[in-house]
Amino acid sequence: MTFKSAYIRLTIYYVLIVMSISIMFSVVIYRLSSREINRGLDRQVRVFQRMPHGQIIPDLEINIAKVHDDQLNESLDNLINQLFYFNLAILLLSAVGSYFFAKKTLEPIEEMVENQNHFTADASHELKTPLAAMRSEIEVGLRDKKFDLKSAKEMLESNLEEIERLESLSNALLKLARYQNEVQINFQKLSIENLIVSAYEKIESLAQDKKIVFDNKLEDFQIKGDRQSLIELFVILLDNAIKYSPEKSTVRILVQKEKDNILVKIKDEGIGIKASDQAHIFNRFYRSDSSRVKENFIGYGIGLSIAKRIIDLHDGKITVTSQPNEGSEFCVRLAISK
Ligand code: ADP
Repeated sequence: MTFKSAYIRLTIYYVLIVMSISIMFSVVIYRLSSREINRGLDRQVRVFQRMPHGQIIPDLEINIAKVHDDQLNESLDNLINQLFYFNLAILLLSAVGSYFFAKKTLEPIEEMVENQNHFTADASHELKTPLAAMRSEIEVGLRDKKFDLKSAKEMLESNLEEIERLESLSNALLKLARYQNEVQINFQKLSIENLIVSAYEKIESLAQDKKIVFDNKLEDFQIKGDRQSLIELFVILLDNAIKYSPEKSTVRILVQKEKDNILVKIKDEGIGIKASDQAHIFNRFYRSDSSRVKENFIGYGIGLSIAKRIIDLHDGKITVTSQPNEGSEFCVRLAISK
């Protein structure tokens, strides 16, 4: 069922509800009014039928009864007409109003379904690449008549690498899916310094492998947030800073206060990001060309979209300033806890 037909269905249901209420009211109004009109006419008839001294004029009786019936019928016809036009107006108004409300009801669901469809399409596209690489290697191996034990070992090693890629991709996808749905956020008072140190501990070995030095100017402030997701956010930013930086470079972390916000700046001396890419790097699966071409920058374009989602859940802000080949600076703004 398309969303267009769902809009129409829901509109029809809304109109049916409104019209049943309106018709029920009309029936009640008709019954009460007809009783009132009848009573009023009866009263008039009794007045006419009486002589000044209380005597009934017999000749007038038939005529008055006829007038009574005519007047009653005319009044009831008028009432039916008015109720008909009233219900017609309600029908038209409710059709317009119902379509509007049906759209308002279904729009967020439509958006969610569209989002889910995009996600599935993007995810399957990403999953295809390592699978295609494995398949072609196996096919080439099977066709090769001189395929010996050494080549088999090499192929298995390469396949193992692709499997590791698939594993980390599926982990990243699961994380992304978790953050895209309404995650349970457990807000509490947290020390920003403690969060950064916890994140740093998780990526420390990567920094050591590349001999990257960290230059930290951490001040401690209290913020309100979810501990796990904020550590995740800083891990993503620090991991990127290491991944896109040359060996033996420096990554600077600066924490400062600005009005009611805490600013955390993470600055690297890496490959930088072109201005045209900067607007897109927070989109799901977006990778700049420079990171796609280089084999050592393994990634799927998922980290920063998770980071953005975490920031949005905290009503914060994340921005980037960068120059290609000079480095990048990611700035996170979070509200200070009072
Ligand atoms: P991934 O790093 O897995 O590709 P991300 O979502 O974390 O995915 O980042 C998206 C893109 O943004 C990266 O592919 C890269 O092009 C760019 N990027 C992110 N952080 C940096 C950085 N510190 N330096 C240079 N480019 C970066």
